[in-house]
Amino acid sequence: MIINITLPDGSSRQFDKGTSAMDVALSISEGLARNVLAAEINGEIWDAGRPIEHDATLRLLTWNDTEGKTTFWHSSAHLMAEALEALYPGIKFGIGPAIETGFYYDVDFGDREFSSDDFKMIEDKMVELARQKSKFERREVSKPEAIEYFNQKGDEYKLDLIKDLEDGTITFYKQGEFTDLCRGPHIPNTGFIKAVKLTNVAGAYWRGDESRKQLTRIYGVTFPKAAELTEYLAMVEEAKKRDHRKLGRELELFAFSEKVGMGLPLWLPKGARLRQKLMDFLQKAQLAAGYEPVITPHIGHKALYVTSGHYEKYGSDSFQPIKTPQEGEEFFLKPMNCPHHCEIYKTKPRSYKDLPVRFAEFGTVYRYEQSGELHGLTRVRGFTQDDAHLFCRPDQVKEEFKKVIDLVLYVFSALGFEDYTAQISLRDPDNKSKYIGSDENWALAEQAIIEAAEEKGLKTVVELGEAAFYGPKLDFMVKDALGRKWQLGTIQVDYNLPERFELEYTGSDNAKHRPVMIHRAPFGSMERFVAVLIEHCAGQFPLWLAPEQFIILPVSEKYEESAKKLLESLNNSDIRGLIDLRDEKVGRKIRDAEVKKLPYMLIFGEKEEETGTVSVRKHGVGDLGSMGVEEFKELIIKEITV
Ligand SMILES: [Zn+2]
Ligand SMILES: [Zn+2]
Repeated sequence: MIINITLPDGSSRQFDKGTSAMDVALSISEGLARNVLAAEINGEIWDAGRPIEHDATLRLLTWNDTEGKTTFWHSSAHLMAEALEALYPGIKFGIGPAIETGFYYDVDFGDREFSSDDFKMIEDKMVELARQKSKFERREVSKPEAIEYFNQKGDEYKLDLIKDLEDGTITFYKQGEFTDLCRGPHIPNTGFIKAVKLTNVAGAYWRGDESRKQLTRIYGVTFPKAAELTEYLAMVEEAKKRDHRKLGRELELFAFSEKVGMGLPLWLPKGARLRQKLMDFLQKAQLAAGYEPVITPHIGHKALYVTSGHYEKYGSDSFQPIKTPQEGEEFFLKPMNCPHHCEIYKTKPRSYKDLPVRFAEFGTVYRYEQSGELHGLTRVRGFTQDDAHLFCRPDQVKEEFKKVIDLVLYVFSALGFEDYTAQISLRDPDNKSKYIGSDENWALAEQAIIEAAEEKGLKTVVELGEAAFYGPKLDFMVKDALGRKWQLGTIQVDYNLPERFELEYTGSDNAKHRPVMIHRAPFGSMERFVAVLIEHCAGQFPLWLAPEQFIILPVSEKYEESAKKLLESLNNSDIRGLIDLRDEKVGRKIRDAEVKKLPYMLIFGEKEEETGTVSVRKHGVGDLGSMGVEEFKELIIKEITV
C-alpha cells in the first residue's frame, strides 16, 4: 500500500506504508539522513525510525531545530542513566527530562555517596556507551507488563509514575542494557552523541514534594560535535564573568540585604542613576507616542482584586493582606498595575473619539516567589514594570500594535540588541471555549497582531494554544551577546479586564461599547532589563547610560584644586564624572579606572592646567591625545545623544 508524505515545502511524495522519516530522509540525501534526530509527523514529534502507516505531513528535525535538540538531550538523559546503572548497579531512577540547555536525571543512590567528583567517571562511561551506537528501541507494553518489569527491578519511582498512566498508552525505550519507561521520542542511536559534560548535582524531592524522599539530580549537556562542547564551555566561562550579580556588586549598581528582605533589590546611587536614565529615555519616547503618565499607589483594596480576578487566582498563595487597625479592611500589595489603570479609565465618560487612551506608569509591583526561585535581579519579589495600558476600539488594535512594535524596536536598537524574534501566541482553535471574549473580537485581534508584525518585518513564530485565556499576545525574544535568549518586551490584548471592570465608551451609534485593553512593557521590568543589559554589554554600558562617563586623574596633589574646578565645569545633568584624589601614581590610577570600566580618563597635570586642556584616554581604546575642555565636552555630548 502507498501513502503520501507531504514535506514542509508543500511537495508531496509517495512511499510504501510503514516507511519511516529516516527512509524519507535517505531518499532525499544521505547527508541529510546523517543529521536527522527525530521527525514531526502530523504535528507530533516521533522517532525518526518509527513506521508511518497513513498519509502524513512530515518535518525532519535536526540539531538546528529546538525539538531536535530536545530529543537529543532527552536521549542523553537515557544514556547517562545507562552509564549510571552500569557503574552503580541497583540504583533507582525518577524522571530524566530535557531542559532548556541539556538534561537531568533524578537518581536514588540508596546509601551510596555521590558528588561531582564522580562526574568524570560517568562522562567517560557515557562516551564509551555512545560509541556502541546502541539503537533506541521503542516497545508498547501493557500496564501489567510495565508494573511487572519495574516490580522486579524494585524501582518504586517508576511504579509511582506507571500508576497514573492508562493501559494501552505505555511504552518502553531500550538502548544497550538499559530500559526506561518513556513516552519518547528518541534519536536513532546513541552514536549521535559525541561530546558529554556533566554540569551540576543538586537535591530534588520526588515529585517536588518536600514530604517525600530527596533524590540526587544530575545535570548534563551533550553535543553532536566535540567543537560545540568547547564553544559551549567557553560561553559558560564568559557568562560567569558577565553574571549581573557579580558585576552589579563590582560596579556598585545594586545590592540585597537580608534585613530588608530576600528578593527586594536596593538600587545603589550608580544603579539608580542608570535606571533613571533608562526610564527618562523611555518616558521621552512614550510622551512622543501619545502616552499619558499616571501614578497609582503600591497597595489596593481587596475589592479591586476581587473585581480583577487576581484575588481568586493568587489571593492565597501570594503576599497576604495588610489590615487597617480600626475597620479591619484588607489591602493587598499591588501584583499588577492594570486594575488601578482600569479605575483611572472609569473616572470619566469616554467617547469613541477619545480613544485610544494610553496610561503609562513605572509601577512597582510585588509578587511572592519561593526563596529558592529568587535570582539576582531576574527573579525578585518587588520590581518595577515599565507598564502602560492602551484602551482602544477593536478596529484600532492593529494600529496600536504597530506603534507599540515601533517603540519596542526603538528601545532595542538604542541599547544594542540587534538579534530578536517575536512569538505570537494565539488561541487553540480546537478549544475556543477556554477563552473569554467574542469569537469575532478574537479573530480580529489575532489577525491584527499577525498583520502588524508582518508589516513591521518582524521575524515571528506563531504558537497556537499559547495565548492567555484573556487574549492573544506578542512576546519579544532577544538574543544577547553570548547568544542566550531572553524574553523581554511583551504586548498583550485583553478582553477580560474591560469586562470585569465594565469599561465603556460611547460609539458613533450612541450606544455603549467595550474598549479593548492592551498591556505592554518594552523592558518587561526595570530589574530584569538591567540584568540582561549588564550581561549583554559585560558592564560596559553605552556612554549615555553609563552612571559616570569620565574620571579626572590629577598627576599630583599640586593640581587637585584646579582639577576639582574642572570637574565642576564639566558636570551637568547629562554628563557626570569623578575625580581620583588618592595619593597614587597616575599609572595606578589609570589601571584602576580601567577595571571600573570608566569610559573616559582625563589626565591632568602642569601642561593641562596651563593650557586649559585635558589629556584623554578612552576605555578599551587607549590614548586620544590632548584636547581643549570644550572639545572634550562636545565629544561626549555627541556620543550620548541617542
Ligand atoms: Zn525517554
Ligand atoms: Zn497590565
